[in-house]
Amino acid sequence: MMISVEEALEKVLGCVDILEAGETPLLESMGQVLAEAIISHIDIPPLDNAAMDGYALKASDTPGASDQSPRILHVIDTVIAGSISQHQVTPGTAIRIMTGAPVPGGADSVIRFEDTDEARRQGSSSGEIGILCEVKHGLNIRRAGEDIARGATVLKKGTVLRPAEIGVLASLGMSKINAVRRPVVAVLATGNELVQIDQPLPPGKIYNSNTYSIASLVKRYGGVPKIIGIAFDSEASLLDKLRQGLDADMLITSGGVSAGDYDMVKDVLASEGEITFSTVRMKPGKPLAFGTLKGMDGNGNPRRVPHLGLPGNPVSSMITFELFARPAMLKMMGKKNLAKPVVEAVLEEPAVNTDGRRLYIRAIVTKSDGRYHAHLTGPQGSGILTSMSLANGLVIVPEDTAGAKAGETVKVILLGWDDEDNI
Ligand code: AMP
Ligand code: MG
Repeated sequence: MMISVEEALEKVLGCVDILEAGETPLLESMGQVLAEAIISHIDIPPLDNAAMDGYALKASDTPGASDQSPRILHVIDTVIAGSISQHQVTPGTAIRIMTGAPVPGGADSVIRFEDTDEARRQGSSSGEIGILCEVKHGLNIRRAGEDIARGATVLKKGTVLRPAEIGVLASLGMSKINAVRRPVVAVLATGNELVQIDQPLPPGKIYNSNTYSIASLVKRYGGVPKIIGIAFDSEASLLDKLRQGLDADMLITSGGVSAGDYDMVKDVLASEGEITFSTVRMKPGKPLAFGTLKGMDGNGNPRRVPHLGLPGNPVSSMITFELFARPAMLKMMGKKNLAKPVVEAVLEEPAVNTDGRRLYIRAIVTKSDGRYHAHLTGPQGSGILTSMSLANGLVIVPEDTAGAKAGETVKVILLGWDDEDNI
């Protein structure tokens, strides 16, 4: 039975769950999901400090100050970032201050160098400074706690950790955080024709490229690939290799799922577990198997390992990974937004649909005149892997249409965007 892309995705997602959380070194947590709320135990910044290089003073000393009639103050100290002045600013005095330095006691404002006559006094050590304008109370002062107040919830549980969140956590002095762990995804290629990429290529053979494109996708989306290697098209070889992947959170095979004599992934999946579906109404990717294999957890207890049997064609395996394996991985990682961004674009060449299946056509998406435009990459054979290298999008042609004409507006999945905002 051929099921729709939506039904297939629902079944895959129904078989995976969020993984457990663990203590993670801050930098390694990039892209993971926070498993607990973060409450600040400190103010950031910790003290009122200067937003500019200049002079800390009392605003009440400056009324009437101008370029023509500077207000002269006595300079009693200099304070740099990281130090605290031991002096008090009193009426008629100022302290020279650098950006980030704590505002000295008694001062309520900072005037920048450019609004003083410091440049005109070059070299003179009179111990005085002329103020060239009136200063508003609080000028150029960053308040203690204005970014993060002590006791505030800084990041909510479930937040995706991106560079900004990693920076915020570092500003709190957190070197480790509690994050949902990364899924381990076993990657197994199948096919008698496959040769390891570090071996010579005998006649009739091809290099195993799927392992590398798939493992790279696993890495890109935050998982840990476990490469099992190549299984031959025999039940014994397939079983032996599949068993090596049963300790993973998900097992991905490529090849051996169509109707050929040596396509036995489905048979093995059926005998070693439970097969959920084996064809999807899409192109490329019609032969796509999914089920669960009987495995064991770390304590020797039985568990079900989700198994995606991707088609062998290099393009099909990448596209079906994007559509099914990626959302499954993201769900395991605790992410909420599982879909790639889809935009509307003007189709620049016609796309014909003769199969009654949903087409995913490799395209180069550009932007001009405020609109996206989708140019097809050329030959769409599912063995033409270089077309995936050219493409940054997949034009979606619905299954119930004869195609789309040039100039029509179509939906395009943007392969280069990951849409991990926390909004
Ligand atoms: P299959 O689904 O096993 O019938 O494979 C379909 C096509 O994809 C065949 O032309 C295979 O040679 C090719 N293919 C299968 N697995 C791989 C792989 N790991 N790397 C490159 N090509 C592959
Ligand atoms: Mg094969």
